Order: sequence, then C-alpha cells, then structure tokens
Amino acid sequence: MLKIWGLGAATLLALCTAGTARAEWREVETAHFRIYSEGKEKDVVQYAERLEAVHYLMKIATGMKDDKPVNKVDVYYVYSVDELRRVLDAKPNSSVAGIYIPSIRGSAAIVPRNNDGGSLDPQAVLFHEYAHHFMLQYQPGAYPPWYVEGWAELISTASFERKGTITFGKAASHRQNELEYLRWIPLRSLIGRSKEDRDVINRDYGSYYGQSWLLAHYLTLADKRPGQLRAYLLAVLRGASDEEAWKAFGDVDELEREVRAYLRGRSFPYKAPPLPPEVMAIQSSRALRPGEAAIMDERIEALHQRMDEKERADIIARAEAEAARFPDDAAVQLFLAEQYADAEDWPKSAATAAAARWRSIPRSPARISRRDWHWRTARRRTRTRRAPRSTGRSNSPRTIPLSSMASSRARRGLAMRLAVRLSTSSSAQATSRRRMTASASRHPRP
Ligand SMILES: [Zn+2]
Repeated sequence: MLKIWGLGAATLLALCTAGTARAEWREVETAHFRIYSEGKEKDVVQYAERLEAVHYLMKIATGMKDDKPVNKVDVYYVYSVDELRRVLDAKPNSSVAGIYIPSIRGSAAIVPRNNDGGSLDPQAVLFHEYAHHFMLQYQPGAYPPWYVEGWAELISTASFERKGTITFGKAASHRQNELEYLRWIPLRSLIGRSKEDRDVINRDYGSYYGQSWLLAHYLTLADKRPGQLRAYLLAVLRGASDEEAWKAFGDVDELEREVRAYLRGRSFPYKAPPLPPEVMAIQSSRALRPGEAAIMDERIEALHQRMDEKERADIIARAEAEAARFPDDAAVQLFLAEQYADAEDWPKSAATAAAARWRSIPRSPARISRRDWHWRTARRRTRTRRAPRSTGRSNSPRTIPLSSMASSRARRGLAMRLAVRLSTSSSAQATSRRRMTASASRHPRP
C-alpha cells in the first residue's frame, strides 16, 4: 500500500492536456504482464521491460527456481495522478496514487505515468505493489507484517542506471524524513505480533514503513547477520511464537542498537545484478483497435469495485453506445456483456456474449483470446448458477486503493493471513502532511 501526499490541487498541466488529442493506445505483452498505455511504443515497451526486470529481480532475490505461468497482471497506465482520480471518480484531495486489484480472474493495476510533482515516483508505487503480488502469487505464507512492507519497500527502489543491470536495495530516500524525525517504534513492537505491539505501531504508524524497510535492508544487505532473516522467517512460517522466532536474532536489543547505528551511518549498500536481456522479452506489441481504444476509459473505470447503481448504469449506457459504434469488434461487445453481467442482467449479458463469441470465431481481426474467453464465460456461468439477487449491485472484484487501509487489511486477511490491524492517529497525519515526503507512512481510517 502506498500513497502520496500533497496532491490536492488539480495541476495546470492536467487541465491543459485534457482537451488535446489523445495518443494511440497500445497493448504490450510479456511473460507476466499486459501493459496498456497511450503514448509512444518505445515508452510502453520500456514500462513492460522494467516490470519484467523487477519480476526477475525478485526471482533471484528469493532464489525462486521455477516460474510457472500464471495469470498475467494487467497494468493500465493513465496520464497522471489527476487522470487516475478522474477515472476512479476519486475526490480531488484524495491521496490515491495508484490502485491494485487482486482477483482470481487476473490481477490489475492502474498507475499514473506522471506523478504531477508528488513526492512518490509512480514506478516505485507499482514496484511496491507488484512485490506484494509476487509474494502472494509465488511465495505465499504467513509472513510477519513488517517484513511484507519492508520487502516491498526494498523492491520499490529498483532502478536501471547502468544498461544491463538492475539495482537491488538502493536507499529508500522517500523514507528519510520519517526515519529521522518521527518517533522510533521499539524493535520488539515493530516485529512483535501481539495486540500490545499493534497498539504501539498504530500510535507511531508514521515510522512503520521506514523502519520496516530499514530492518529488512539491514538483515538482507548489510552482510552483518547472514542467515538470520531466513531462519527467523522460517520459524514464523512454522508457527513459532515471537520469542521463539526471535532466537534467530540472538539478543533483539543488540539488533536494535545495530539497526539504529546503521541508520546513523547513512550508508546503505546495494547490489546491481546483471539483467539478462531475455528476461525482458516482449511477446507482442500492438496498437489497440479503434473499438478497443474507445472503451479504455470505461474498462479502467469498471475495474473499480465501488460502483453504485447510477454509476453502473452510466457505464452500461456508454458501453452500449460504443457497442453500437463498433458492432463488429468482439472486445467491445464482450465488454458490454460483462457490464450486463456485473449488473446481473443475465439475458442481455448472455445474448451479447454469445454474439461476441460468434464474432470472434472466424479469424476476425477482433478475435479475442481463448484465455480471455475462458475466464469471462466462466465468470458468467458461475454467476448464472447463483440465484440472481434483486439489488442490481455490482459484484466486480475487490479493489485495493493503494492508500486504503481497509482494503489493505482485507487483502492481508484474505491472502496472507496477517493479523496486524493498521490505523493511524490524526496528529501523525498532520505531521506527515507537513513533511510532504513520507509517501506511504499513514493511511486514513476507513
Ligand atoms: Zn504495501
């Protein structure tokens, strides 16, 4: 979960560009991602390559051998933070910096290409979120909460300064202020899992991400305590109590002294492993068809779950208009069928989906992939089997705004069985707003 601060006012840039002609939408596909973005092909290809590079980095950092094919993550790049908030219908003073939507039908992320002068690099936001996705997808387990965030922060600073390398463990400079100026969470509480520990963390939540990063960095890259982090994590995964798991560190108070000295030393080693070009292979790159491009706004909006009936009806009306403009584009028809299904209008959904399927069969330029077809129809079948509800409420996948602690908790509870309840104090929020650089340090109460 990441958020940025101080982006309340709509930027002049966004206002100026709102009326200008839009660039072509592209889809670039790699082994683990489908990237959708407007803009030059080389830029979109670079987004895709960098995401694959980060996937590779996590693979080597975790020693993962086999990399089984999984559902690809759809990543939608929108122009700016303001554009993101517009499509998500977020309030102008919202702190949403991007959104990540885990789903059994394929996870998706929506991120801005530009950060509108905010303190947090959108690329770092995406890498942080993908680190969570990677952990859930490839290394599931009951990790301690501080490590989940510390690890994601370690990955978030990946950079590409020298051609053919990627950096691992560069200093999280966006955490500097919170580490230097906010109250220190005692290490035993930071890594503890009791209710009392959670209360301590909640009181000084502003320091939580920074300290989690610092501890993860020290145990991973400082080369002072080899093997201890692994032993500790294995103990936690085995279900050991805090006291038992901490035995991996020896004296926890001594570890705390070392970590604080590490922070004072201001020298954080990092690695720059080679990046084999083949790990960033592009499988395909194409301009979206006019019909597909026409529904991109609606497609992105429809990913957002909290849609009331009025918003749902609005999306359907717009999708119907596009479907009428592009009667032969199966993707447009299928999108409309999905919207009917989300509104639980089964007859219309079935009829539209059947027509889309029919259109997609005979080598049509609008042919949809077998995989897309499979999950979309599977979802429809699942829904049809259920007794239709009369509310007409959306049943789209859970959405996790990067800044929402309610969603953050839900995701952890669902997928990682983590137990820490995270909240914040209003005084801590005020401190953070003054500092303007602590990106993910606090989350509003749901
Ligand atoms: Zn996070």
